[in-house]
Amino acid sequence: MIGNAVRDLLTQKEERFFIPIENVAHVMASNPLNHALLVLTKVGYSQIPVVDKDFQLVGMIRLSAIVDKMLSLQKVDPNNIDQFKVEDVMDREVPVLRDPYDIEDVLHLLVDANFLPVVNQEREFLGIVTRREVLKAVNRLAHQLEVKYTVSPVLEKTPCTAETKIS
Ligand code: AMP
Repeated sequence: MIGNAVRDLLTQKEERFFIPIENVAHVMASNPLNHALLVLTKVGYSQIPVVDKDFQLVGMIRLSAIVDKMLSLQKVDPNNIDQFKVEDVMDREVPVLRDPYDIEDVLHLLVDANFLPVVNQEREFLGIVTRREVLKAVNRLAHQLEVKYTVSPVLEKTPCTAETKIS
């Protein structure tokens, strides 16, 4: 469990972990796969979220998955993926944060992900929380903890010896 001092400092500017949907590159599940290739190439990210027509989050599309698909075809040519849609290649099992989310979940889930999509209770896509934004807060925490709080070591307990255990 995260202590109060750390939680306070980490969440001081919690809104900054979050990048709202209007600033997040994303594609529709029904888009042609080469559209996703174009978007990923333009924005320079290795993966972005995928939504359906109701703006519900349905998955994530990875550049490497598109390249894999191209390699599985006869010739590596972006035109060869014309026949596929984003939904044919996207990952469907993706970790998500449900709004309102807790910093503890964010820290756990970001160990294995570069970013986390945020959805509401109806699974509508709201935006993302990125590792970069969280690391900025961790950096602030590292610098401010001992400025704002008195931190002293907890006295180590003397380990039980065999004799004290027996008696
Ligand atoms: P960062 O922590 O800023 O390096 O971002 C980690 C990952 O989050 C990137 O590699 C992208 O996959 C994703 N990401 C960050 N910002 C955006 C954005 N504005 N639109 C779409 N995806 C993003």
